[in-house]
Amino acid sequence: MTTSDHPSASTSDHPSASGAPRASTPPLPDYHVHTVLCKHADGMPGDLRDSARLKGTPEVCITDHCPTPDSYDPQHRMDMNDFLRYRDAVQEVRGSDAPAVLFGVEADYYPGCERFLASWLPRQDFDLVLGSVHYIGDWGFDNPAEADGWNTTDVCAAWSAYFDLVGRLADTGLYDVVAHLDLPKKFEHRPNENEMKPMAERALDRIAGAGMGIEINTSGLYRRVREIYPSFQILRLAHERDIPVCFGSDAHEPSQIAAAFSAALELARSAGYAASLRFRKRKASLVPLPPM
Ligand code: ZN
Ligand code: FE
Ligand code: FE
Ligand code: ZN
Repeated sequence: MTTSDHPSASTSDHPSASGAPRASTPPLPDYHVHTVLCKHADGMPGDLRDSARLKGTPEVCITDHCPTPDSYDPQHRMDMNDFLRYRDAVQEVRGSDAPAVLFGVEADYYPGCERFLASWLPRQDFDLVLGSVHYIGDWGFDNPAEADGWNTTDVCAAWSAYFDLVGRLADTGLYDVVAHLDLPKKFEHRPNENEMKPMAERALDRIAGAGMGIEINTSGLYRRVREIYPSFQILRLAHERDIPVCFGSDAHEPSQIAAAFSAALELARSAGYAASLRFRKRKASLVPLPPM
């Protein structure tokens, strides 16, 4: 079991395993799930596949936290030595039956990450690369253990720095989809809408320019903010720019697969979306959304 207080680690208010298929879960791919290898999650790819099958989730992309060769945040990701084990474990459960199991990774953007990722990512056989920002400088702003930092920082300046990092992430061209786009709201510190809009727009323009998608990530519903990432307002701005979306639970245990996907589908539709992304070998296509 995880005892980590990592930002994405499971919380007790996450839905628990019911064992039975839930008719209320729409058949959308879950493109953001973790494994035990990252040191703060439970389950191996086979367990995730089994849970997806129970819920009628048609595809699951395993996207564990990417290893790094430098000293960046080693306590929240697989070790470099575990990468082949990770790859093989995903490979082993890719069968011909549903659900389809895809091979992905959640790779952080931080200044200097290109030194490794630019040569390493293209050499892997990934279906999807999620891009995330979890740090502003050396502050893990979404880590509960570092949440106090919000009380001593200028909230607007922190968000502005965050969105600038997201823009730089997009500019690298190394990633397919931005994960949890407005993650800094996790502990309910955020600028008002008038302040938020221009900074979000600048990041979204760079995401659109890079031809990337964004993720509708339901894990925020189980955090203090109790809201999907991103907000309706930001999702509207993304839709105005024709930025496509995919769906992710950010499951850190198998029972969390596709959690609250009905709410995610409703949010996507309300923001104007009628299709979502599918990936194979990092090639994107669009598939109509299922009915609500
Ligand atoms: Zn995590
Ligand atoms: Fe993340
Ligand atoms: Fe994640
Ligand atoms: Zn995540």
